Parts: sequence; structure tokens; C-alpha cells
Amino acid sequence: MVETTADPVAQDEEETMTTIFSKIIAGEIQADIVYQDDQVTAFRDIEPQAPIHILIVTNKEIPTVNDIRIDDEQLVGHMFTVAQQIALREGIAEDGYRLLVNCNKNAGQEIFHMHMHFFAGRPLGPMLVRK
Ligand code: 5GP
Repeated sequence: MVETTADPVAQDEEETMTTIFSKIIAGEIQADIVYQDDQVTAFRDIEPQAPIHILIVTNKEIPTVNDIRIDDEQLVGHMFTVAQQIALREGIAEDGYRLLVNCNKNAGQEIFHMHMHFFAGRPLGPMLVRK
């Protein structure tokens, strides 16, 4: 069990937020949706950084990883099994892929609605650019 300073169970105040991703999930804004169920929606990134770049987004409006609660553990696990299914559908499960989640400013998070990046389609190089 990893110790954290935040207590996810104690955060019982719902924050209201609507992001561009909420509008895509609701079908109000167009996107190339590759998968959708009652928990997540996956669509191709508008500015792909690899031949295959898909975002797996929680339908629930969770701003960042810091806002995940104990009750969301099944949902977060589901993001991985959806990634697995997408890899099979895209035909790249054996070649491999990278899953990445940004949290807040040092990671460069732009959209404050929980999402996992799915990158594939070429060798992806080192995980981080060395500086
Ligand atoms: P973050 O930096 O928050 O982890 O990633 C946000 C991602 O969302 C970026 O890769 C960006 O290209 C993508 N994105 C931003 N706006 C839109 C949009 O309207 N449609 C789609 N499909 N992707 C978007």
C-alpha cells in the first residue's frame, strides 16, 4: 500500500467542471471515437504525437490523478483493460505501445479531465527527453 498525504475518502465535496472532453463524451463536439462504454470514452488525439495516439478518458469528470478516490479504483483499472482492447483492435498489441498519464503543471497537463494517452505505431524512444 502506497502512503499518500491526501485522503481520497475524505474528499466528499463534488467539484463542478466541464471540459472539452466532457463535450466530446456527450457528443456535442466531434471527435474520432474508437471506443465508448458507460465508464470511458476513447478517441484519437487532435494533434497526434505518434502514428496511433488515442486518449482514453473517464466519462466521470475527475480533474487529475490527485482527485482519484477509493471508489474510482475499478474505473481506473478499467482504463487499462480498455487500452488492452484498443491495442488488439489497432493490431499493435504484440509490437507494443505506451500508456501515459500527465498530472498537473510539471507534467504539462493541459486538459483537466482524467485521461490516459495511448501511443503506438513506431518505436517510441526513451520515456523522457533527458535535460
Ligand atoms: P494532456 O497534456 O492534458 O495530458 O493532454 C491533452 C491532449 O488532448 C493533448 O494531446 C491534445 O492534443 C488533446 N486535445 C486537446 N483538445 C482536443 C480536442 O478538442 N480533441 C481531441 N481529439 N484532442 C484534443
